[in-house]
Amino acid sequence: MARARIIPVFVPHLGCPNGCVFCDQRRISGSPLPASAADVTAALDRARALGQTGAELAFYGGSFTAVDPALQRALLQAAQPYLADGTIRSVRLSTRPDAVDEGVLAMLKGYGVATVELGAQSMDDGVLAASGRGHTAKDTVRASELVRVAGLKLVLQMMTGLPGSDREKDVDTARRIIALGPDGARVYPTVIVRGTALEDMWRAGTYREHTVADAVAVCADILPLFEAAHIPVIRLGLNPTAELSGGQAVAGAYHPALGELVRSEILRRQAAALLDGVPAGAEVTLGVAPERVSAMTGQHRANIEALTAAFGLARLRVKGLDEAGDGVVLVDVRI
Ligand code: SF4
Repeated sequence: MARARIIPVFVPHLGCPNGCVFCDQRRISGSPLPASAADVTAALDRARALGQTGAELAFYGGSFTAVDPALQRALLQAAQPYLADGTIRSVRLSTRPDAVDEGVLAMLKGYGVATVELGAQSMDDGVLAASGRGHTAKDTVRASELVRVAGLKLVLQMMTGLPGSDREKDVDTARRIIALGPDGARVYPTVIVRGTALEDMWRAGTYREHTVADAVAVCADILPLFEAAHIPVIRLGLNPTAELSGGQAVAGAYHPALGELVRSEILRRQAAALLDGVPAGAEVTLGVAPERVSAMTGQHRANIEALTAAFGLARLRVKGLDEAGDGVVLVDVRI
């Protein structure tokens, strides 16, 4: 029997009372209409017809717990037959930190919700205000505790490059999110989506674009912090969609392979630390796990060229080496 992991149902902008400057959930999720109970049934019927079992139903986009409570219950109720027959094993959803309380969480748990994702976005109140988030960092701390106390898994989402933020504030947000002990995190560098308030701010010159290079630099600071705390980063960067790639992402940190660029930058930094002190003119071989050779080499050999130039090397090679583990090792230096 086929097994599926996630069955997504998008609830774009549904129930959201807010107007975050970067948000056009209908475009970001690539889904033009809010979901209904019939959509949930249709998605799960498809999975059942394919013989899938043990999947997780995921309500993404919007702010699930800010939706009319009757609709929340209807969406969750639609999933119950499929939980009962094992087509799905649990439900996850995302929402705003200021839209959860003990009663809401108890209701979600009763319907088989196992994981709640909270859009923290920043832990800096100035950044949250400048981004029109309508909640504070304290709301995120409070909501995270409530999710934990309710016995639900917690995933925290953060963004880099929001209005009023900088690299230091983004790294501080990551540290404060890690301190909340989530079971996982998502990191979304800011993308300027067509038609949003952020696009107006950028065109008016009141917001400086968070470029792909900016995002790679700060995410290469942040990712190792999550890894050191054993918190999986389950997503880095917006999922590529035909709409975003086709021009709706007008500027900002949109790149279909952003995660790969960040991993490449982390390895470049590790390699630079190893090469410090290697005499100019040397021929060097670095070792990384075989599946990391391409990330170490960099897109269009960017890392090889940058390191060769920075350290004046005659030649730099990268070799697949199982023993390298997660890092980079110096295999050979010839003068
Ligand atoms: S809270 Fe979420 S859905 Fe609502 S405007 Fe902000 S990002 Fe969009």
